[in-house]
Amino acid sequence: MATMTAVKDKKTKKAPVRGMMDNVLEQFNSAADQVGLHPNIRKILAITNNEIIVNFPVKMDNGDVEIFTGYRVQHNNALGPYKGGLRYHPTVDIDAARALAMWMTWKTSLAGLPYGGGKGGIKLDPSKYSQGELERITRRFTFALADNIGPEHDIPAPDVNTSSQTMAWIADTYMSTRPPAERTANQHVVTGKPEGSGGLEGRDRATGYGVYLNIKYWAQRKNEKLKGKKFIVQGFGNVGYWAAHFLEEEGAKLVAVQDAFGSIENQKGITVEDLFNYSKANNGSIVDFPEAKSLQKENFYSTTCDICIPAALGNQITKENAGDIKATLIAEGANGPTNVEGEKILLEKGVTIIPDILCNSGGVVASYFEWLQNRNGELWQLEDVIAKLDKKMKDSFDKVYEYSESEAMDFRTAAYCIAIKRIEKAYIQRGIFP
Ligand code: NAD
Repeated sequence: MATMTAVKDKKTKKAPVRGMMDNVLEQFNSAADQVGLHPNIRKILAITNNEIIVNFPVKMDNGDVEIFTGYRVQHNNALGPYKGGLRYHPTVDIDAARALAMWMTWKTSLAGLPYGGGKGGIKLDPSKYSQGELERITRRFTFALADNIGPEHDIPAPDVNTSSQTMAWIADTYMSTRPPAERTANQHVVTGKPEGSGGLEGRDRATGYGVYLNIKYWAQRKNEKLKGKKFIVQGFGNVGYWAAHFLEEEGAKLVAVQDAFGSIENQKGITVEDLFNYSKANNGSIVDFPEAKSLQKENFYSTTCDICIPAALGNQITKENAGDIKATLIAEGANGPTNVEGEKILLEKGVTIIPDILCNSGGVVASYFEWLQNRNGELWQLEDVIAKLDKKMKDSFDKVYEYSESEAMDFRTAAYCIAIKRIEKAYIQRGIFP
């Protein structure tokens, strides 16, 4: 299906650039064909419910005022409140927000959560702003979003370049602008908060842990051991670091990493904790890590390895590099890292892809636990969180694995089919208002 998101470069007359929305719509349409989705429900799910764009002024440290553009796209809420992250990055735009919101709808549905899908963020490079400026930008964005978010309506969470600190500022601003009697009861307007402010123990590692669990369940099904397996990670932030941490604990070996600043490789192994401490002391960059040699950016995906974990941005594995990938398993920590053309090449080569909506769903599952904890005025223990997360992730993996076996389809299509059917059922039961 053609979309309006393809951008034609008039000057160079290059082929249209495929937007993220093209990718997610193509994935959706392929699964919708497979399940014979009702045409009316296909129409509803192919569009977003609400798109909020806000322009807002913020006073900078030097006294100047800068105008920022923030987005919140609410794709679908048939199964519950909109749920999904907020990203601070120069690539944030309406196309990215739409696509990421749509992925969230499939992800929450597949995980069996009472949520729909939303996503948003601000187009900016956070490295250019002080901590004080980022706080004011976040608070003013929250104020501009106003009642478009809410604990029973739309619940943001951390994503690229946002953190538990960002969520604490949002929760505080949101609560401070409620009528007095409602102020303390609205903590769960965001998840991924710090533990001292309503956050859930274990939420920080949940996405990466879920990526690791999916890889472990895949290995178990294949009767393979993770010990000694080589893996590479693109993006050494929240998701990439924690996935690497748990894989290393299982005896797998990290051999290459790429982040926004550069790429490194050591086929003898990179110690995850050492790299983490190094990057923390090096403004979040892995560049010049002494235990590894530097690698050309374009050679990262062709590094020798068994498992590849894209855990940075979307559209990273494409027809340009998919053919060079050595890994036999791609575990998608990021959202939308493999585009449709790249995926086709990988599937033809016999590479298994654990798709984003399954592989990185540990984060939203833990967010759901945090939301329940806040709603019920409880404090959950880490071991309970991990036990519940293990069960949820295993259930989802088994569902997708078995569906893909019984219908002879790849994991992504199977995951989409399960997710879409659950939403279709809700629409059929309830009908369309009025
Ligand atoms: P993060 O901000 O903590 O880390 C992002 C990492 O990616 C950093 O190491 C950064 O240097 C690197 N990076 C940025 N641009 C890059 C580029 N062009 N090339 C290579 N590396 C680059 O973000 P995160 O929370 O770890 O999110 C990573 C991905 O996982 C995103 O796609 C996000 O949507 C997805 N995700 C995150 C969560 C979560 O709970 N945080 C949940 C599900 C999915």
